[in-house]
Amino acid sequence: MPQASLKFTVTQQGKRGLLALGHYRRALGQTVFPGVVVLCYHGLRADQWPDGSMPFENLHVRASTFEQHCRVVRDACDPISLDDWRAALAGGAPLPARPVLITFDDGYRSVLTIGAGVLAANRLPAVVFACTEPMERRRLLWFDAVACRDGEEAVQSWKSRGYSEWLDACASRTPSIGDDDPRALMTPDDVAELSRQPGIEIGAHTARHPILSHASAGEQRAEIEQSRTALEHWTGKAVRAFAYPNGQPGVDYDAMTTGIVGELGFDFAFTMRSTFARPAEPAFERSRFLVLAEVTAAELAHRMAYAWPR
Ligand SMILES: [Zn+2]
Repeated sequence: MPQASLKFTVTQQGKRGLLALGHYRRALGQTVFPGVVVLCYHGLRADQWPDGSMPFENLHVRASTFEQHCRVVRDACDPISLDDWRAALAGGAPLPARPVLITFDDGYRSVLTIGAGVLAANRLPAVVFACTEPMERRRLLWFDAVACRDGEEAVQSWKSRGYSEWLDACASRTPSIGDDDPRALMTPDDVAELSRQPGIEIGAHTARHPILSHASAGEQRAEIEQSRTALEHWTGKAVRAFAYPNGQPGVDYDAMTTGIVGELGFDFAFTMRSTFARPAEPAFERSRFLVLAEVTAAELAHRMAYAWPR
């Protein structure tokens, strides 16, 4: 079979076989990525939690799957921290041939209870972008609350409302939740604990996860600054990186937002544009690949080796 047709014809079973045979490790070993592969995870799910325990389950990767992902990243790629990337941009050591940066959005507690140990065991750095207001109030994130009450489809319509209406009628009315619920966010103490793990950086993700493009400049600034101030207070460390909620360029944030992020002194901001984070792209619009629960380790390796467009 010609190599060029591989990405169109390999079944999931075939990919599992190729992974087991070490094929992807060898293929990736001969590859130079055109930029950083920034992986965007959300929550994690214990293997024993039954299907249907939480909304948007595809955003919460099973613990065993995440462990397998981490082994692929460790064995076939070059894991980096955001500080490695900063150093390369500042003229220090250049990035390796296959740089991969692991990130998590929203601040789910499962990142600490499940993810932190897996990352440590594999010596993998990561950046965790956290929404602080529901953490402080011990509330559900607004979209998890809406999905549990009205179904996942109901979330989309709230994403098109103005900021004030959304804040008053939705984000301010989320129910409280126990710390051991699979949908829980980290507590402030959890965030501080996670920030002390070597290689883990905490970044800001707004206070309440609004669609920033529907907010005024002042509202956007307050959302972003509030999350940074809280995280710096909890961790005692500077917060320098930001991720846009929802993250679609020109839809969920705009030029006003990137301007505010720059004025506030952040040095990296991440989107959900799905491509390699190439050296030429703007510092406040770095690309990331969303990783869903359905993505097996073999599929992740296949995408990195072949399927993601170069
Ligand atoms: Zn988010």
